[in-house]
Amino acid sequence: MPMPPLALVTGGAGFLGSHLCERLLEAGWRVLALDDFSTGDARNVQHLSSHARFQLMRADVTQPLPPQAEQAERLYNLACPASPAHYQRSPVQTTLTSVLGTWQLLSLAERSGARVFQASTSEVYGDPQEHPQSESYRGHVNPIGPRACYDEGKRCAETLCFAYHLERKVPVRIARLFNTYGPRLRPGDGRVVSNFIVQALRGEPLTVYGSGRQTRSFCYVDDTIEAMWRLMDADVEGPLNIGNPIEHTVLELARLVLELTKSRSRIEHRALPADDPHRRCPDLSRVQRHLQWTPRVSLADGLRETIAYFENELVTS
Ligand code: UDP
Repeated sequence: MPMPPLALVTGGAGFLGSHLCERLLEAGWRVLALDDFSTGDARNVQHLSSHARFQLMRADVTQPLPPQAEQAERLYNLACPASPAHYQRSPVQTTLTSVLGTWQLLSLAERSGARVFQASTSEVYGDPQEHPQSESYRGHVNPIGPRACYDEGKRCAETLCFAYHLERKVPVRIARLFNTYGPRLRPGDGRVVSNFIVQALRGEPLTVYGSGRQTRSFCYVDDTIEAMWRLMDADVEGPLNIGNPIEHTVLELARLVLELTKSRSRIEHRALPADDPHRRCPDLSRVQRHLQWTPRVSLADGLRETIAYFENELVTS
């Protein structure tokens, strides 16, 4: 029997990475997951560890990749801390992870002929002046602000992908992911969904930054993974927005979390972090045209799943 094809997933023990590894194994792929465990956690893929087609290795993507990676037909670049609290802790490493990590994968793909999936972000739009954001919008990013290490790192990673595609014919797929949530977000990682759920479950005040009138569009992880899957298989040039088009204020999210957890926590307002985007919502015309994909999971249903996960995490941790 021929060997199943190999996929490389950087950030494979992270939130999105672990869900993608599951999906790849279900579809019959062999999976080599790399993680430096700076924000990823081996427990996220513990249930896959006995799988014959799964391997997890510690690796820093800014360094040359392990030799096994040369065999991979598909390279998914998901390695980068994604929570503002985490990525701002080591801005140099965050920038290098995006830029050098993407460069390592693209150089590998140039040698091996593999296809590259780049996890980009709605943060390439910065604090957007156009609403909703379509892929043609060029963004409004502060290049030296506290979010720049992530925003500009991801922007430069897109640039590198296109440069390798145009000049060296490397096949690339780029997804601009908008606020994804679901099981395996880390409790206490500083993101709004994980913060609010943990605070509500512990009976602590929910910390709303600023007025709470800023908006985000939250996409459940299963929907995100489905779109990523279709994009990797599709023949699409240029980045695609992947997210849920239903926009909520942060205050609405806080109230919904309180309702679903039946928590009696209060809402407390804290200072709004510098450069916090005021609005964010994907224009999905392009992704719908190319992938016939639209998110299916409502915020309430997705939060219920996520709350159940955190309830269990808080008991066992
Ligand atoms: N936020 C909040 N309370 C928290 C954490 C975040 O009000 O405890 C706000 C944050 O200021 C931002 C939004 O929620 O406006 C989303 O923040 P997150 O860190 O999840 O991701 P971002 O979309 O900003 O990258």
